Amino acid sequence: MRLILLGPPGAGKGTQAQRLIERHGIPQLSTGDMLREAVAKGTEVGRKAQAIMDAGQLVPDEVVIGIVADRIEEADARKGFILDGFPRTVPQAEALDRLLDAKGLRIDAVLEFQVDEDALVARIEKRAADTLAAGKPVRKDDTPEVFRRRLQEFRQLTAAVVPYYRERGLSHTIGGMAPIDDVTRQIEGALPVEARV
Ligand code: AMP
Repeated sequence: MRLILLGPPGAGKGTQAQRLIERHGIPQLSTGDMLREAVAKGTEVGRKAQAIMDAGQLVPDEVVIGIVADRIEEADARKGFILDGFPRTVPQAEALDRLLDAKGLRIDAVLEFQVDEDALVARIEKRAADTLAAGKPVRKDDTPEVFRRRLQEFRQLTAAVVPYYRERGLSHTIGGMAPIDDVTRQIEGALPVEARV
């Protein structure tokens, strides 16, 4: 099963991805995590991405597409995967279709998280405060100012990915402000029948 989690930052995609991994045994491919790892390792991609990420802007399409193209070739992604944070632009969505087409594969469902932006800002402020309280450093892009910038990037660029998948009949709306277990139930109800556990 190949899924896409689509929604603004802070919508709970990561939490739900974790549950999908446990239930369905397919890996989460988070371009944000892969980019952060590249930054931590100081690779060429990481050096290109760091300043862009810290500013809450989008890393160039070709960089992210390259990372995903390599990652879906790995053995653990053969049975399926959960894409989290990708595609974020229409060219990325088109590139993904081409990558999958070439392998005779397709996306089974796109889970479109719908949220209230003001509540999201409050959620991210809480996440930053909790992280600090736990004595851990807050991600530079999880400060409220940069978070607002990321939301704006989402509205300007990623919102166009929503109609791309709606037109293809793949999109399922998920009420992302519901309690976590409710969101999980909505997601399980949206999966292809043969995939439901
Ligand atoms: P995330 O953890 O998904 O919120 O991603 C953190 C940051 O990584 C984003 O704010 C972007 O700078 C970058 N990033 C992650 N995924 C993508 C993508 N698909 N396209 C462009 N930039 C991305």
